[in-house]
Amino acid sequence: MDYYSRQITKLIEELSKLPGVGAKSAQRLAFHIINMPNEQVEHLAGAITDAKNNVRYCKECFTLTDSDLCPICRNSKRDHGTIMVVENTRDLAAYEKTGKFDGVYHVLHGAISPMLGIGPNDIKLKELMQRLQAEVTEVIIATNSSLEGETTAMYISKLIKPIGIKVSRIASGVPVGGDLEYIDEVTLLRALEGRVEL
Ligand code: ZN
Repeated sequence: MDYYSRQITKLIEELSKLPGVGAKSAQRLAFHIINMPNEQVEHLAGAITDAKNNVRYCKECFTLTDSDLCPICRNSKRDHGTIMVVENTRDLAAYEKTGKFDGVYHVLHGAISPMLGIGPNDIKLKELMQRLQAEVTEVIIATNSSLEGETTAMYISKLIKPIGIKVSRIASGVPVGGDLEYIDEVTLLRALEGRVEL
């Protein structure tokens, strides 16, 4: 790529480090950015820096947010006694889009995977258990139906059941190995409504 100027090569290199961006797309994006009006480029660069500087974990549910508590945890109209456990913030967004869940969430930021060496202490599980000391009536486990997601669901249910809190698992309407964020809202709702107690 040394037929481009050093700055362009650098931009292409940085862009190609992003997930899903191959060398070709990185070149296309780089030239697109260079042809963008200055103001638009500044907005893009500013949005990236602002997001990185201000986004943090919600103190309560650990989703990504820009204040101490996310808007869902701050909302007193939501049912704080029903916690839906998801693997990541994108899964939370998928359920929020259905507009039919009025409880709160807990974001694990991963799933247990003995193969990848990811154990219970590597995800936000301790933090979930701490939340259960407050008044909680049900924990709905909505981890993916991949091997890791199922392992995590089983592990969590074994931890929680002895406490006497109802634990349920979303129905198997979600295809095996399915990534929650790619599943349509109807399927998600059906999975939620058809959840089974563990
Ligand atoms: Zn929150």
